[in-house]
Amino acid sequence: MLSPELNVDLHCHSTISDGVLAPADVAARAKANGVDAWALTDHDEVRGIPQARAAALDLGMRFVTGLEISVTWAGRTIHIVGLNIDETNEELLNGLAMTRSGRQLRAEDMAADLAKAGIPNVYKGALKYVGNPDLISRSHFARYLVEIGVCEDVHSVFKHYLTEGKPGFVPHRWATLAEAVGWIRRSGGVAVVAHPGRYDLSPVAFDAFFREFKAYGGTAIEVVTGSHTHDQFYEYTKIANRYGFAGSRGSDFHSPDDKSVDLGRLPPLAKSLTPVWADWF
Ligand code: AMP
Ligand code: MN
Ligand code: MN
Ligand code: MN
Repeated sequence: MLSPELNVDLHCHSTISDGVLAPADVAARAKANGVDAWALTDHDEVRGIPQARAAALDLGMRFVTGLEISVTWAGRTIHIVGLNIDETNEELLNGLAMTRSGRQLRAEDMAADLAKAGIPNVYKGALKYVGNPDLISRSHFARYLVEIGVCEDVHSVFKHYLTEGKPGFVPHRWATLAEAVGWIRRSGGVAVVAHPGRYDLSPVAFDAFFREFKAYGGTAIEVVTGSHTHDQFYEYTKIANRYGFAGSRGSDFHSPDDKSVDLGRLPPLAKSLTPVWADWF
């Protein structure tokens, strides 16, 4: 068992999904920021893992295989991080290919809706930011909208565009919760609810969600994440302990230009929690 001071970051993105740095450059930045154990968790993709692993091992960081799967639950989008998976598992790969497959048409529909709102050519503009043609994301649209001065930063784009009820939003059906947790578990991994504080669910709906997640074999939630406030670190520590979930820690880093938490720059998990990595390092 390693010291609780170990700097663990198990959530971030590269150009293989909607991050702006290549996997090896994310590894280098994590190392420079003092990260000891690291996972790259691209959206619905595992194709960055070989480069990420090689870079991490070169740099002397412990490496955990990971990804972040988009799920639709009760009409909401929820993200499930998978850690310590076998990224060559066929069922997982097929499931991810299916999950990615609607992104292209959705992007075209998003651009059409933005054009109706008076912002033309966003599809072409967003493509400049896309590193993986199978993974066009709202983040790429957001970066282009910042580039052309529609909003000051990515965060404010999501306040005014691309979200429910706003221009550029197109509803989408992702994987089911049972599928995502099943793919992760059957590829040998641990399923983790990503940034639970970001979902707009009532306490009753949250309880139903956590029970269902647990029934499918989910065992952890992110507690210390770049998406949570300090109050939410405490809130989700209590929730993890109440449901018997392990806790995870991750920045959700996407870009050095975002005004968000950088790799490894997070408080430690509370001592009362079982870290999701307890058996790994
Ligand atoms: P998509 O998977 O195409 O729906 O895109 C979702 C991505 O958009 C997330 O993974 C985040 O990177 C980004 N995103 C969503 N909401 C926000 C927000 N409020 N602020 C900043 N980025 C966001
Ligand atoms: Mn993202
Ligand atoms: Mn997420
Ligand atoms: Mn993420």
